[in-house]
Amino acid sequence: MITSLRARAITDRIVIHCSATLPEQNIGRVEIDQWHKARGWAGIGYHFIIRRDGALEHGREATKVGAHARGYNRRAIGVCLVGGVDGSGRPSANFTGAQWAMLERLLAALKLVWPAAKVIGHNEVSAKACPSFDVQAWLSALPDAQLT
Ligand SMILES: [Zn+2]
Repeated sequence: MITSLRARAITDRIVIHCSATLPEQNIGRVEIDQWHKARGWAGIGYHFIIRRDGALEHGREATKVGAHARGYNRRAIGVCLVGGVDGSGRPSANFTGAQWAMLERLLAALKLVWPAAKVIGHNEVSAKACPSFDVQAWLSALPDAQLT
């Protein structure tokens, strides 16, 4: 846990990411923390990580500034789904049922704390494929309209 980071003054976005790893790569917080440290960051940039089996892991403290979406780190929570590319390195929404279910549960919980925070994909604020799916289309197909 990184305790020296600054608290966010604003939380008006929840940004969904993927780790851009293969479905068979069972990685999580520890590995991503190592990758982000290797980039010279203060450790893992996401606040939450959802592993392939749907297990939820905590990265940065949820109230602190993250390092996951340029221009949004001071106002957004970052959630990372593990997976998101296929064997050819192409974007693929190859997340497991357990991951989709946990994402929905996590977003519902975060929206209780930050009801005004809009859920978006990284690809909505950056020219990236991440998180390898259309977050707005996914949200609109959910029964819980509160998540959008
Ligand atoms: Zn991303």
